[in-house]
Amino acid sequence: MTLHRSSKGVFSKLLDNNKRNPGSVSISWPVVLHKKPKPKKNIREGLLNKQGGFNANKGWRKRWVVFDGSKLSYYDSNKSQVSKRIIPVSCINNVEIDVKADNYKFKVFTTLKSRVFVFAAEKRDDCTMWANVLMAAVVDHKSSIKTDQENLPLRPDKEGFIRFANMKEYYVTITGQMLRYYHSLDDYQEESPVHEIDMKLASVKDNESKKLRLQLWVHYGHFDLIFPSEQELQQWRLAMEVAIAEGLADDTVLTKVYENISNQQCADCGAPNPHWASINLGIVVCKNCAGIHRMFDFRVTRIKSLRMDTRIWTPSLIELMVTIGNANANMFWAAKLPSREAIQSNELMDKRRNFISKKYIEKRYADKHPLLNLKPALGEELLKAAKDDNVLDTMRILFSGADIMYRQHNDGPTAFEIVKQSRQRLVMEFLFQNGGDPQSLVENVQDEDRLREDVRLQGFLNKTGPLGKTFERRWCVIEHGTLTYYMSDKTTMVKGSVDRKDMAMISSVDNDRMGYQFELSTTLKDNRTYMFSSDIKDDTAEWMGTIAKLMAPVAVMEHVGMIDIRFAGYAYMKELVNEWHQTFLVFSWRVLNFMNKDLKFDYLDLRKASSIRMQDANMGYQNRGPCFVISSTKWTVYLQANLPRDTEKMYNCLLEAITGSGSTLNDQVLSSDNVPVIVDRCITHVEVHGLMEKGVYRTAGQSSRVQALLDEFRRDALSVSLREYPVAEVANTLKRFLRELDDSVFERINYPAWISAAGCTELSNRLSSYEYYLKKMPSVHFNTLKRIILHLHQVAEHCAVNKMSITNLAACFAPSLMRTLKDQTDLTGDVCSQEIKIIVDLLENKDFFFHADEKERIRACNIEKAQSELRKMEELRQSVHPGKFDVQSWLVPCQILDKDVSVNVEVTETRTAIEAMEKLNEFLSRSQPHLARLGTYVLFESFFNGNLVRPMFPKDIVAKTTKRWMEFDAFVDDDITMSLSLRSMELLQNLDTSYQHQSHSLQAELQYSDSKSKKFKTKTVRFRQCQLAIYNKAKDAEAAHCWKVEDLTFYLGAWPKRSSSSRYYLTFLVNGEKYTKAFGHCLGFSNQEDLYTWAAMLYAVQNPDGLLSWASAFPHGATS
Ligand SMILES: [Zn+2]
Repeated sequence: MTLHRSSKGVFSKLLDNNKRNPGSVSISWPVVLHKKPKPKKNIREGLLNKQGGFNANKGWRKRWVVFDGSKLSYYDSNKSQVSKRIIPVSCINNVEIDVKADNYKFKVFTTLKSRVFVFAAEKRDDCTMWANVLMAAVVDHKSSIKTDQENLPLRPDKEGFIRFANMKEYYVTITGQMLRYYHSLDDYQEESPVHEIDMKLASVKDNESKKLRLQLWVHYGHFDLIFPSEQELQQWRLAMEVAIAEGLADDTVLTKVYENISNQQCADCGAPNPHWASINLGIVVCKNCAGIHRMFDFRVTRIKSLRMDTRIWTPSLIELMVTIGNANANMFWAAKLPSREAIQSNELMDKRRNFISKKYIEKRYADKHPLLNLKPALGEELLKAAKDDNVLDTMRILFSGADIMYRQHNDGPTAFEIVKQSRQRLVMEFLFQNGGDPQSLVENVQDEDRLREDVRLQGFLNKTGPLGKTFERRWCVIEHGTLTYYMSDKTTMVKGSVDRKDMAMISSVDNDRMGYQFELSTTLKDNRTYMFSSDIKDDTAEWMGTIAKLMAPVAVMEHVGMIDIRFAGYAYMKELVNEWHQTFLVFSWRVLNFMNKDLKFDYLDLRKASSIRMQDANMGYQNRGPCFVISSTKWTVYLQANLPRDTEKMYNCLLEAITGSGSTLNDQVLSSDNVPVIVDRCITHVEVHGLMEKGVYRTAGQSSRVQALLDEFRRDALSVSLREYPVAEVANTLKRFLRELDDSVFERINYPAWISAAGCTELSNRLSSYEYYLKKMPSVHFNTLKRIILHLHQVAEHCAVNKMSITNLAACFAPSLMRTLKDQTDLTGDVCSQEIKIIVDLLENKDFFFHADEKERIRACNIEKAQSELRKMEELRQSVHPGKFDVQSWLVPCQILDKDVSVNVEVTETRTAIEAMEKLNEFLSRSQPHLARLGTYVLFESFFNGNLVRPMFPKDIVAKTTKRWMEFDAFVDDDITMSLSLRSMELLQNLDTSYQHQSHSLQAELQYSDSKSKKFKTKTVRFRQCQLAIYNKAKDAEAAHCWKVEDLTFYLGAWPKRSSSSRYYLTFLVNGEKYTKAFGHCLGFSNQEDLYTWAAMLYAVQNPDGLLSWASAFPHGATS
């Protein structure tokens, strides 16, 4: 909290300050004072001594004390503007004077846990005056209490604990335009805050350098607020913005709407000065009634604030409120209201609700149209009223039950279409508010009964003409699903408009021609693109967000609220080998939000994308133009905009997001295990080349080269080649990267907590504290730390050679990993040693923190081994030119060594398994000698995490295999995980050993489970003359099933949900058969030998080249 000081006295100080800072929010303080006129005698301020401690048993401090007639507050000094506490009179029970010799004290007894505040004055008179003023106020308050009883305190609009930058947590409430914070919940209940802020004077800002923080600015300084999650932050930001809006609420709209005098009293209960409106009913209501209206379906009534939602109030809507208004509306709605049923402004909520429901839902008191029961006739009346431009008649007929979509002879125009044609703004506005715009209804069946949320915005924008040359200032209005622009806000002459159905994509434009620009691409004739700009960044963001919402399909529009949208619009999308489908995209920060096939919003975290490439037009949707593919180790997505020119825009925008890196740990290109690629790559490099290097991480690299490498990583982390860099430079790049992050790996906010945890003498206490803070770390931070600690541990294991002990490494890394709040350079040796102690503790107890149990540890160990081999291969792969990719190709995940690690294999229509293996071998052949054994691995197809595997043979067409995967939708919930995998050739060698070259037929009693059940039954199974047959009984002449082996695909293993009868299974799929109940047919064998005998026979029949054809395909072994 940084605060500056100004002159004396709270109120005069504020006045002063505003004079000095004409740029700050201009307010007139005297108005605020006049609101609470208090006799002078009741106000007092001055310097007093206050005794500290909860029981007033500690030392005395000078405090500036202010009593404003209703609250006693005290400050550090008369220059401070942030109170230390505010005690409302309502909390004061009694005041006592305690004068002894030259000691002039008075005690204030409160209800705050019976706390007594003790103050002392310099002079006896002063002491008496203070006590008298307070006593008078207390007496006054007690006598007035009875009349106030009904006024139960309102719940705040928002409340909860927030941590401030001084690390203290306060209970914060926002009520109306006031924000207050309290030491505790108890203090809140007693209404005794530490300080209160009038939000009219405040503004909320993002903390530019730190995530999860907001700054609340007031004219005397700012408060740094820290939130545990982005969601919390957003909720509080919203609440603060509403409070500010409430404070700054504008009476312009209200004044205009009050031109209809009947609008100055609530339409339902008659309360004076109502501030809310039901915009479809055209009435003005009070806060209490508005609360009830809000409970009803928004098609019945839609409530907006006349003071706060100022930007939705277009001239048409205001005029509508004046034209209909409470009197006219009630002539209809309350025509038959018996006076005894009418409600008053102080009505209880239950009765109020009951009444409003009868009035608008049951329409019990309404003066309905005589043709009420003749729907078509009523429809005709509606068309007539609309043609006549008569708002009140239209209202009466519509609310009597006319069908707003009525068309003459079923094919004429609707009432809305009629008024839109003849530009009758008022009736159009009324019909629009009641769902009359057919376009606002969604075509999709699921959403048939949903209306589009009304999207509105108005303001000045700069706009280029059709030739895109110069910018002209235009008044732009979004209403009725259309963006319309006018010469100015004073004229109703329309210059042009774009309907939402013609909008294709909105995107931000980076150039310095004029302000903050964005362009709107349309499907209008000549495919016009509109270019807009605003001088204010936030305005551009608001316009883009609003237009994105306007364009969005109804199913997802409520979720289109991302800040800083880079582009949004319609596109086609295809996941891996599935079909193209239409989608709506919103791209913001590094997250691509998209509408999936179920019309839900989903997203791709582009930090994890490993590549983005343009593809040829013939790969795109219906050959309509180029598309591009983004892939990560987990997913592959093809994208194409509706218009070819937008595809390129999208591509460039995403390319930047995928390759570039920001200044926080969160804002980096990430590896599949959520570690920044730069960290992963540097560590791998050190592990491959530097474990034996003396003084690794201590030897300084050449600084300019380290900087250059770091810059290269920041530009495009995935394409950096470390080949030419010595270990010391890579090691230093890692350290420098960590040091230069905006926030350290151990977040600064938790720095004091870590240091104090390190102070525990008991190791077990330390470890459990560390564990607690590790759990609180954001996942990227945690994963990064884990990677570093495990790596440093590995380095230390070679300390006999590299001379880097655990302590040495901890001392090298502490400054890169930990930072204090203020980046103090004058750290005491003690704090430094605590930092080192933390790293040493983590290193020595790495298994405690980073591996939950033995099983998990072994699994992680295997994965790490595989990963590290992969990374090492990647390391080596970098030095060669990237392979030439086929354009007509897609990427298929391929698991390596049956671990949770995969790479993407390029697959084309014609690529064979041997060709795919060659690609992989290209990758493997650069491996170090000790990795040569990888060459004895061959390609398999794998389902259900390896429960089902099928060896592929060199001449198999890979695409034939992967295309079939689309058929297994029914098993997605079973975690089918379809992939290719690299596995040992040993299995094929074993099969070959079991292969009985002489026999040409097999028969046995086997367990069989068909494709419709999970259970097994004993059957006779026979293989003869290339056919597989199943008999219910051995002697049966007729087979129950019989297939040609060439029509079958065999897998070793079984669908995990089959009820098990043995451990040895062979599963087979029949060409053309659909599987929904069980995955394929399954044969169960009593031992492995039988299984191998059958499998070998069946595979051999299908592959004339023999089971070991891979070996001959790699005559010199895979490593050559
Ligand atoms: Zn009311």
